[in-house]
Amino acid sequence: MTRLSRSLFGDLDVEVEMDAPIGVESWFCAGGRADFLVRPRTAEALSEILKRSRQIDTPVRIMGEGANLLVDDDGVPGIVIRLDAPAFRAVEHNVEGRLELVRVGAGADLARTLMRFARAGTAGLESLMGVPASIGGAVRMNAGGAYGEIGDVVHAVACLDSGGRVRVYGADELRFDYRSTNIVDPIILWAVFRVSQENPIALRERIKEIAAHKKRTQPLGDKSAGCMFRNPVDPDTGVRTSAGRIIDEVGLKGLRHGSATVSTHHANFFTIDRNGRARDAIELGDLVRDRVLDARGIELHREVVVWDRTDDERIGDA
Ligand SMILES: Cc1cc2nc3c(=O)[nH]c(=O)nc-3n(C[C@H](O)[C@H](O)[C@H](O)COP(=O)(O)OP(=O)(O)OC[C@H]3O[C@@H](n4cnc5c(N)ncnc54)[C@H](O)[C@@H]3O)c2cc1C
Repeated sequence: MTRLSRSLFGDLDVEVEMDAPIGVESWFCAGGRADFLVRPRTAEALSEILKRSRQIDTPVRIMGEGANLLVDDDGVPGIVIRLDAPAFRAVEHNVEGRLELVRVGAGADLARTLMRFARAGTAGLESLMGVPASIGGAVRMNAGGAYGEIGDVVHAVACLDSGGRVRVYGADELRFDYRSTNIVDPIILWAVFRVSQENPIALRERIKEIAAHKKRTQPLGDKSAGCMFRNPVDPDTGVRTSAGRIIDEVGLKGLRHGSATVSTHHANFFTIDRNGRARDAIELGDLVRDRVLDARGIELHREVVVWDRTDDERIGDA
C-alpha cells in the first residue's frame, strides 16, 4: 500500500486494489485502469471514503456492472468504488410491514434479482429482463426499454451525498425521465420497489417473451455497452426517434474505426474487438455523431458514460 492509500483506507473495512484494470471489467472489455478500486464492506466505510477523498480532493467514481461504461485507455485518476460486498446486495421484503414493498441494495445484480423475484411470483422488475445492470446503475440510468423502465416501480431511493451523509427520497421527490433521473447525490445505496404477487408461471412466460424480444433486437453476444446514443427527439416531429434507425438510414451500419465497429445487427450498438482500444469506440462515436449531424441535422448525445482523465463524472459537491 502507498502512503496515500494507507491514509485513505488503512483503518477502514474495505478491500483495495491498486492500478486496477476496470476497463477490461466493463462490458466493453476494453479500456484503462483506476488508481484504486475500492470495495467497501460497510456503509460506514463507504461514507468515510467519501469524506476523506473530499478532504484531500481525490476524485471518486462509482461503477456498477460496467454495462454502460466506456473507460478511456489512459484510465482514471483516484478512486473507483464497487458495491459488491454483501452489505450492499441485501434484499428485504415487506418493508415497513407492507407486502408490496421490497428494498434491494444498489450492488445487487438486476438480472439475478428479477429472476429470484420471478421464482417467488413477485412481479415488478420483469420489464428489465435482459438489461445487464446493478440496481444502482439501473436506477441512475433509469434503465428500460419497450416494456417499461425501472423508474415505473421505484417507491424510494437512499443515497449518500458527497459529504458521506445518507439521504432518502420518496417517490414524490423523484423524477424519472428517459434514461435519466433527478438524483444528484453521487451514490445510490438502495432502492425500494413496488411489487405485486402474480402466478409464477404467467410471470415466467412474460419474462420469456421479453427475453426473446431482446435477443431478436439486440446483439447481446457482442462486447458492447448497449446503446451508444440516447434516442433523440426529432426536431421536425417532436417525437423521440430511434438513434439506431437514424444511424442505419445514414448508412453507417458496419462502419469501422480501428478496433471499434458499428454493429451490423443494431446500429446503435458499438463493439470493440478482443484486445481492442476504448479510444477507438470513443472516436467512432464522434465520427457517427458528425456524420448524422451533417446528413440529418440531428445531434446525437451519448448514452454510454465515458470516463477519462478530463471527464466531469467524478463525484462533486452535490
Ligand atoms: C448487451 C447490453 C444491453 C443493454 N440493453 C439496455 C436496455 O435495453 N435498456 C437500457 O436502459 N440499458 C441497456 N443497456 C445499458 C446498461 O445495461 C444500463 O445503462 C444499466 O443501467 C447500467 O448499469 P450498471 O450497473 O452496469 O452501471 P455502470 O455501467 O457501471 O454505470 C453507469 C452509470 O451509473 C453510475 N452508477 C453505477 N452504480 C451506481 C450507484 N450505486 N450509485 C450511483 N451511480 C451509479 C455510474 O457511475 C455511471 O455513471 C445495455 C447494455 C448492454 C451491455
